[in-house]
Amino acid sequence: MGFDHAVVIGAGIGGLLSAAALSRRYDRVTVIERDRLPDMPLHRRGVPQDEQMHAILAIGQESFEDLVPGVAGEFLRAGAAWYDSPRGIASLSSQGWAARGPSEAWIYGIRRVVLEDALRRKVLEIPRVRIVEGQVVALHPAARGVGGIVLKGIGRPHLDADLVVDASGRNSHAPAWLDELGFPPPPEQEIVNPVGYSTALVRLPPGALRDDIQGYLIPPLPDSPTGAVVLPCDNGLHQIVALTQSDTAPPATREDLIAHLEGVRSPVVAELARRADFLGDPKPFRIRGSRRRRFEDMAPHPEGFVAVGDAVLALNPIYGQGMSVAAVEARAMRDILLDAADSTGLAARIQEAFRPTLDFVFGSVVRSDGAFPAAMLHGLERPDPPKSHVLGALATEDWKTAVALRYAGHYFTAEPVQAPEIRSRARAWASSGRTPRRSDPRDIPRAHDGAPLPR
Ligand SMILES: Cc1cc2nc3c(=O)[nH]c(=O)nc-3n(C[C@H](O)[C@H](O)[C@H](O)COP(=O)(O)OP(=O)(O)OC[C@H]3O[C@@H](n4cnc5c(N)ncnc54)[C@H](O)[C@@H]3O)c2cc1C
Repeated sequence: MGFDHAVVIGAGIGGLLSAAALSRRYDRVTVIERDRLPDMPLHRRGVPQDEQMHAILAIGQESFEDLVPGVAGEFLRAGAAWYDSPRGIASLSSQGWAARGPSEAWIYGIRRVVLEDALRRKVLEIPRVRIVEGQVVALHPAARGVGGIVLKGIGRPHLDADLVVDASGRNSHAPAWLDELGFPPPPEQEIVNPVGYSTALVRLPPGALRDDIQGYLIPPLPDSPTGAVVLPCDNGLHQIVALTQSDTAPPATREDLIAHLEGVRSPVVAELARRADFLGDPKPFRIRGSRRRRFEDMAPHPEGFVAVGDAVLALNPIYGQGMSVAAVEARAMRDILLDAADSTGLAARIQEAFRPTLDFVFGSVVRSDGAFPAAMLHGLERPDPPKSHVLGALATEDWKTAVALRYAGHYFTAEPVQAPEIRSRARAWASSGRTPRRSDPRDIPRAHDGAPLPR
């Protein structure tokens, strides 16, 4: 095995970013995509969520731009919203409205279909990358692992590859395909906690949002499982999202969406929705929960095979992390490929490099979603309730703590909340014996102005 040809299964976000990463080392990169790809931003079957607004977190943006230089400019040209989320988005936790202040954690808000179109155009400018229509139905064997893919079609044609990257998403068949080659499937962990998601694309009348607010984030809580989100989207539009973390069906009409929003902890999103111009019916979506396939724990790891993106970690979308995780993985893969002297054990090393990101992200989702009473855990221990709520409480008054908490989510690390300044503020709050003042669900404190909290 050398560095001649790499094959990627799936031309979603994980597949496109992986192709960019692989092109730094392999002479040829072939992406196999089951759907016929449109040459403009249009819905396609393989990505049912493509009308949904997708947020790219700060670490995701750095990774996208590092892998595909110039792509951020393409997002902006395609009309992406670009906003300081810890300052502009009013967020209501179980303790009250979080304080807001300027940060370095800005977000791109863009419909997935627009984002994917812009990214695909940029990736196709890389001379070594091509996208071919076809459906992968199996892996082709090689000594100690995988040597290519098998395509659907008469005679099941196959394509040889030095490395196969599975980026076929949440419904990936990789465990069954590996089993056919004699590799026991990777251990699986799942938190089943049904999520209902219904998104309406809207135009807001001028002045509908207060001048220091660009959106709202009111997540479902274990004792209040309906939530609401308003976020800026591309081309001056917004998306209003009704959320449930329960078996309740998400609303499918404007009237039902507004009725859902009226049951949320704060009336601000329902009031906004009544004034909004709806550009179509809300689009409902249901997801079973979050699942991790621990490919990094396969022993032995199949040579010549790596899995990325939702094929590895398919998350509750409420947290908006999936693409950023795929981007961090693709960047780690690129770095290992550039350093590799030869290809022996290479796939295992790449898969292992994803572990810290997966541990952090999946760990935080399990802690949040595991607190819902109906959540069922498979292959996982139910997490202990948090020992302290000090940081969340302090974040309702102290914008720096609130921004540090958001940095932890944006950069997939707890370091920002362990900074000496934040720790000493938390100690002072804890020893004062104070509790958050009771939050009025309508009364949102103004954002702090000034220099951003350094990351
Ligand atoms: C409602 C919703 C909202 C979301 N919001 C956000 C957000 O705000 N921010 C964020 O970061 N993430 C968000 N996500 C998650 C995000 O969409 C995914 O994490 C991200 O797209 C990574 O996907 P992927 O490339 O791994 O797989 P996918 O995007 O699912 O792509 C898989 C591709 O593989 C192709 N394919 C599948 N099987 C085969 C086969 N056998 N042969 C050939 N091709 C095949 C499919 O056609 C598809 O093109 C959201 C998800 C949902 C459902």
